[in-house]
Amino acid sequence: MRVVETVAALRAETDAARAAGGRVGLVPTMGYFHAGHRSLMEAARADNDLVVVSSFVNPTQFGPGEDLAAYPRDPEGDARVASATGVDVMFTPSVAEMYPAGPPRTTVHVSELTDGMCGAARPTHFDGVTTVVTKLLSITGPCRAYFGRKDYQQLAVVRRMTGDLNLPATVVGCPLVRERDGLAMSSRNAYLTPEQRAIAPELHGALLAAADAVRAGERQAAAVADLVRERLGAASPIDLEYVELRDARELVPLEHLAGEVVVAVAARIGRARLIDNVVLTIAGNAVEVDAGVRVVDGLVPRPAS
Ligand code: AMP
Repeated sequence: MRVVETVAALRAETDAARAAGGRVGLVPTMGYFHAGHRSLMEAARADNDLVVVSSFVNPTQFGPGEDLAAYPRDPEGDARVASATGVDVMFTPSVAEMYPAGPPRTTVHVSELTDGMCGAARPTHFDGVTTVVTKLLSITGPCRAYFGRKDYQQLAVVRRMTGDLNLPATVVGCPLVRERDGLAMSSRNAYLTPEQRAIAPELHGALLAAADAVRAGERQAAAVADLVRERLGAASPIDLEYVELRDARELVPLEHLAGEVVVAVAARIGRARLIDNVVLTIAGNAVEVDAGVRVVDGLVPRPAS
């Protein structure tokens, strides 16, 4: 695996791959790899000739007072994981390499899908994400780009952006990967104390309870949201920021549940702000639940094909 730090060096790699007829896959990340990141790299490895992973803690997607300085980093460990997972090129630019003229005066804003959910508490976050993802796609060139369904709103926003702007990238959504006890994997789980870590799977538990209620026939979004609020209200020190039920594609808030629905939560537990979701497909009385996959012995089970 090659580690490259400059835009020019990454372009040379991807241009050469395409000139040889190869397909390029990009996995954008902020590093501190876990099995969720690894599953995206594996998906990219299966589909492409050249797999690029970017690792960049993007300052413009952090708000004032957020955890930019504290965000966990382990470049050497990440390089070992990426190499062992079959990545060809790891792109680790500095802030100056990505923003040589200082904070960008050109930004990308996706309207409506960024209203509410994480956009409510983090009003500048998604513009930071969409702008840096646009830059990464421009630097890498035509490619497939892999995103996890853990960051559900981000995936919906990036999909919409690539469609609206005709960006030459196919966005591939990948399953949400969980620890064995159900906690959604996140680099920010490193902030949890042992006591907080023990209670954190309750976020997933509350989402499964929501799914059970819908399976049992509940179709009012407000009733399902109340159930999640009550359950997490009893789970100190989980401090729920939001629970929302939205149409799974365009993220339109729902009152009555039908079709594909995402139930999404964000909560603070100590220093960590964690997010999680389940997707329900409702057709009459039938309800399918996509709660992602749990790791088994450190490995992510492959979806049945
Ligand atoms: P991050 O490094 O946290 O910005 O995440 C980089 C990419 O990995 C994003 O597309 C995330 O959605 C994805 N990702 C992070 N955690 C998980 C997870 N537990 N399961 C699946 N994908 C994930």
